[in-house]
Amino acid sequence: MEVIRAKVLGFCMGVRRAVETAEQSVSKNSAGTKIYTLGPLIHNPVVLNDLEKKGVSVLTDKNLDQAQPDSIVIIRAHGTTPQVQSYLESHNHTVLDATCPKVHLSQKRAAEWNGKGFTIIIAGDRNHGEVVSISAYAGGNALVIENPQEAEALDVPEKAVLIAQTTFSPVEFEKIKSILKEKNPQIQIFNSICSATMERQDALSQLEGKTDGILVIGGKSSANTRRLYERAASICKNAALIENASEIPPEFFKMQKVGLTAGASTPDNIIEEVEELLLQNN
Ligand code: SF4
Repeated sequence: MEVIRAKVLGFCMGVRRAVETAEQSVSKNSAGTKIYTLGPLIHNPVVLNDLEKKGVSVLTDKNLDQAQPDSIVIIRAHGTTPQVQSYLESHNHTVLDATCPKVHLSQKRAAEWNGKGFTIIIAGDRNHGEVVSISAYAGGNALVIENPQEAEALDVPEKAVLIAQTTFSPVEFEKIKSILKEKNPQIQIFNSICSATMERQDALSQLEGKTDGILVIGGKSSANTRRLYERAASICKNAALIENASEIPPEFFKMQKVGLTAGASTPDNIIEEVEELLLQNN
């Protein structure tokens, strides 16, 4: 059997940084300080279980007051609000900020333009942690639109800035951009969509016609992994979404060529385990 990996797969830069921050704090924690992540660190149950076994618990915005005194709290790649960060610092917790630099840039832009009197419009999912965080940096009065229909219904202020959630659909963003520009040609637009999702999709597309089956590895609740699976199923009749090596469907062991890709929250060791098991058992 030959296993062909997509040229870009697995952890994106922001997720790798967040996971490394958590692992380093566990390994350096000789004093036994309690470690929390603010929300689940990534959309991958294998990684989350592993962190839990190492004593890392999940804290949420709603139960900050239940954190043990003088703990370590890791902010995940989506970021958090300045209010939550100040709360943690003022309660003597050590805050390790693993906000992705791309999200930091949007937070900074939102704060700067809000300071100049502009209204920040965010194209994204209003309940997503990243959008909540950027909105808070925009002074708490940002306008969030989730789709072109909401853009049509929006009264665009005279001084306005449009920012996108980093994982927003580029196609939907283009539509929203044209609608808002039509309403206010002076609107400032920042295309802050991260290329990580697109790079994994493009690399997967290059496997078309080259394999008998494609395995997509990642958390089943991860949106970018599910989108990879949909793409894999559209280019290959044998596609499967698995979270780890134990879930490889039996028919894949009989194939000559198997393609591999993995979502942005899938760690290298899980990809390696899948590849090794395929090669050992064919
Ligand atoms: S997808 Fe992009 S913005 Fe999000 S964590 Fe990864 S690198 Fe950062």
